[in-house]
Amino acid sequence: AATPNSGDRAGRGSPRPHVVLLPSAGMGHLVPFTRLATALCSGHGCDVSVVTALPTVSSAEARHLAALFAAFPAVRRLELDLASFDESEFAGADPFYVRYEAIRRSASLITPLLAGGASAASALVADIALASVVIPVAKELRLPCYVFFTASATMFSFLAYLPTYLDANAGGGHAIGDVDVPGVCCVPMSSVPQALHDRYDIFTRQFIANGRSLANADGLLVNAFDALEPEAVAALRQGTVVAGLPPVFAVGPLSPATFPAKDSGSYFPWLDAQPARSVVYVSFGSRKALPRDQLSELAAGLEASGHRFLWVVKGAVVDRDDASEITELLGEGFLQRIHGRGLVTMAWVRQEEVLNHPAVGLFISHCGWNSVTEAAASGVPVLAWPRFADQRVNAGVVARAGLGAWAERWSWEGEDGVVSAEDVAGKVKSVMADEAVRKTAASVREASARAVAAGGTSYRSLSELVRRCRNGL
Ligand code: UDP
Ligand code: UDP
Repeated sequence: AATPNSGDRAGRGSPRPHVVLLPSAGMGHLVPFTRLATALCSGHGCDVSVVTALPTVSSAEARHLAALFAAFPAVRRLELDLASFDESEFAGADPFYVRYEAIRRSASLITPLLAGGASAASALVADIALASVVIPVAKELRLPCYVFFTASATMFSFLAYLPTYLDANAGGGHAIGDVDVPGVCCVPMSSVPQALHDRYDIFTRQFIANGRSLANADGLLVNAFDALEPEAVAALRQGTVVAGLPPVFAVGPLSPATFPAKDSGSYFPWLDAQPARSVVYVSFGSRKALPRDQLSELAAGLEASGHRFLWVVKGAVVDRDDASEITELLGEGFLQRIHGRGLVTMAWVRQEEVLNHPAVGLFISHCGWNSVTEAAASGVPVLAWPRFADQRVNAGVVARAGLGAWAERWSWEGEDGVVSAEDVAGKVKSVMADEAVRKTAASVREASARAVAAGGTSYRSLSELVRRCRNGL
């Protein structure tokens, strides 16, 4: 067939492999893809293209992409025109998951896109959310296809094992209980991502299909490192989780791509004025808002903790829809009472820089995996407060590694009850006073630095991946 990559593929065997990256949607996926792009292009001598689907779901993604292409002109942009599809079937579903679906249904359009590229591709790296539909397209093109899992190795092992679990335990049905992932850990039912309990949920269908497809990929990348999740990385590599997986490359924590900052970073002068390790940084990530009653309790808890804090508040799932004001969310009185001691913002903050600021001593985090890797790389202890999806699994990683504390009984989305101000204050005080967790977090930072330094486990994994791409594997 006349495919763009049949016959003599220019990328193959050439000194500069051309790696095409295909992210899905949401900052949690785009950020690690951006980091991979810049690592491949600046550190490992690859030509890199990034496939983008416009318009992005959030404006954070649009700005992030613009900053990437401005700062790294060598990274090429391949624009994917999504096939139109009837979204009404998914009314009320998470807009990021709906976008995964839209890209999945456009998978065949990757073929003409690659044909139009300036040079032939040597390999495709597809986001996990797209794996099951993109691998067959790549196979048709005879293009090596790698799957990038943007969250923890522990969550990856859960995804890889779930089809086996369902085949063996659910008796043809779909009841998911405690899932004992071979060689890794038991994921209790309460930590299984909420959506997965509904077999018809759009996310569930994608998740299981992607899990089943992994064996057909040419390799699997994960933004994790051996020292933080030794069991999960080893069990994935050794076939303990499921037999027959392709090679696994643990390449994390991928280093932040430093773009010239355009925002004022108005919180930095305030941080500069605070004592070392005195500030609690609070963020629940880029794509979720706490319910209003929980926001109030968190506000009161931070106030009652007596500690300084920098709090990033979100009022909506998609930033474009967020018309709320801080005063409306938290009340004028709160802002006056905490004036000087606490800073609250609804803007995008440069989180990676915040975590590396000497004034920051604790990170109250929803445990989105990028946030966890950033905490690990900066050695800031985490108070894990997972809210949905893979976040409880990631919180388990944080707790087991000693990078922080996880209040396991705190509710998450879909469960009754809000976490009280008293509980928040108590937990903040105890973790801020915990010398042992501070020391362990510092050692995690060192292990993370060793992993990505020349000769480290993640550095070698990425080099090996590039070597394979260069040789058309
Ligand atoms: N982030 C940031 N500033 C913000 C909010 C988020 O820099 O105000 C970054 C954060 O550092 C991380 C990513 O956005 O790299 C969010 O990914 P994560 O996996 O932590 O959570 P998600 O947003 O996907 O839930
Ligand atoms: N950034 C981002 N998403 C956003 C805003 C900023 O990822 O919505 C990142 C951006 O990629 C860069 C840094 O934050 O790493 C500086 O932000 P930018 O130059 O985009 O400033 P702003 O859009 O706030 O003016």
